[in-house]
Amino acid sequence: MSVKSDKNRPAGWNFDNSYLRLPEVLYSRVRPVPVARPATAVFNLPLAERLGLEPGAMADEEWAEIFAGNRLPPGAESIAQAYAGHQFGNFTNLGDGRAILLGEQIAPDGTRFDIQLKGSGVTPYSRRGDGRAALGPMLREYIISEAMHALGIPTTRSLAVVATGEVVSRERALPGAVLVRVAASHIRVGTFEYAAALGDRETLIALVRHTLRRHCPEVDSGENPALVLLVAAVARQASLVAKWMLVGFVHGVMNTDNMALSGETIDYGPCAFMDAYDEATVFSSIDRYGRYAYGNQPPIAQWNLARLAESLLPALSGERARSAALAEDAVGGFADEFRRHWESGLRAKLGLFNGEPEDFALALELLAAMREAGADFTATFASLAGVAEGGVPAGALAGDAFRAWLGRWKARLGHQPQSPKEVAALLRKSNPVVIPRNHKVEEALEAAVEQGDYSVMRRLLRVVSEPFAETAENLHYRLPPGPGFGVYRTFCGT
Ligand code: AMP
Ligand code: MG
Repeated sequence: MSVKSDKNRPAGWNFDNSYLRLPEVLYSRVRPVPVARPATAVFNLPLAERLGLEPGAMADEEWAEIFAGNRLPPGAESIAQAYAGHQFGNFTNLGDGRAILLGEQIAPDGTRFDIQLKGSGVTPYSRRGDGRAALGPMLREYIISEAMHALGIPTTRSLAVVATGEVVSRERALPGAVLVRVAASHIRVGTFEYAAALGDRETLIALVRHTLRRHCPEVDSGENPALVLLVAAVARQASLVAKWMLVGFVHGVMNTDNMALSGETIDYGPCAFMDAYDEATVFSSIDRYGRYAYGNQPPIAQWNLARLAESLLPALSGERARSAALAEDAVGGFADEFRRHWESGLRAKLGLFNGEPEDFALALELLAAMREAGADFTATFASLAGVAEGGVPAGALAGDAFRAWLGRWKARLGHQPQSPKEVAALLRKSNPVVIPRNHKVEEALEAAVEQGDYSVMRRLLRVVSEPFAETAENLHYRLPPGPGFGVYRTFCGT
């Protein structure tokens, strides 16, 4: 069947809008506010193809108009979603203040994707904000979300960034942009907090059923759909946060409105990848107490899941004490589940095929040595493969801090039947050589935003899309920043 010839799907657009079948209190119908001069800065052709879109079916200018919100694609019924959230621990009503959901694109294989414009103008939830976004942060989200995808980490993705030809005023005037975000859905922990705060059990249960249909179609929701949903959410976050930890990703703003029920990473504001290993790593300029530090991410995820559980209490059972017991039990499962993913991930990062009781301690000793030596997280793990093949320890591993550890590790490798080649293959598959390093991201953004030169960013995108391969092109991208780069700071909500 050729999708291309289908007159009912112009340019491949094939929208459904199942969110509109939910109670209307959960959203507002609103149109994007048109922009002055839309011009596409980046367009993700492989993702367009995945979605079933046909880039060749419309002129570049027409795509830019759609991506900027100046024109709605056929079948779109645009809404802003209502949600609440705990921001740095405090409950607030929020909602899409600068984003608009166009609809759910059904891909040729039947998969459903939210298509959302971010930076598309004011909505009923904008409060005092202008509803707009600046070009630099939108390009940054594009780069990092695509890098996360290539690393095999569930994430929202970026279909395009369009410059608006308008200026947004922040600390200074900046060029404006709209990001086209693609997500399994935009249902957040905060969406449930919002529904719960309405005090209407019917709405809450409708949202539970909708979310289960969307994200757990394979499970039988049985007699207690809210419990099924909660248990699934706990499992997905445990797996997701373990994946972040294993690549040194610091989300930076794990507010409950930035935690998706799909289990995808969402909201690339102040996030960044850690260079030198330190659990206390914080990049966000507003995270003064390190609430969202690298090492705090697992307990914070569990804290957020407790907020989800609280929201679900009225749907868990008709009896408060029983609901509380079910909730506590489900959320309490997070710690073991996280530890299981974290341990098995660390084992793979050490090239271990089987499990021995001392493996976790061995991994923690390596992390402790890295912290002691100020060693780079990604580069240290990446250099293990060469050592497993008989090479002399290079880079960080050459230091004294690692000599004793390497001896213990080699002894441990001797307990498994796999050849050095097989061990090295597992190490290379489990340890990326390239992450979107902050100094490289900044370099790409600077060239794009200040000089209008997108070649640096295109090269970076190419390199981060193949994070496990050692290539000639990615040589410089594997290296940690020099001492001149200084302490990296990120900013929120720009
Ligand atoms: P975030 O920090 O991106 O998770 O956003 C938190 C809340 O602030 C969300 O409700 C956003 O929609 C809202 N927000 C962020 N930036 C703006 C803006 N420029 N205009 C309106 N609302 C915004
Ligand atoms: Mg957010």
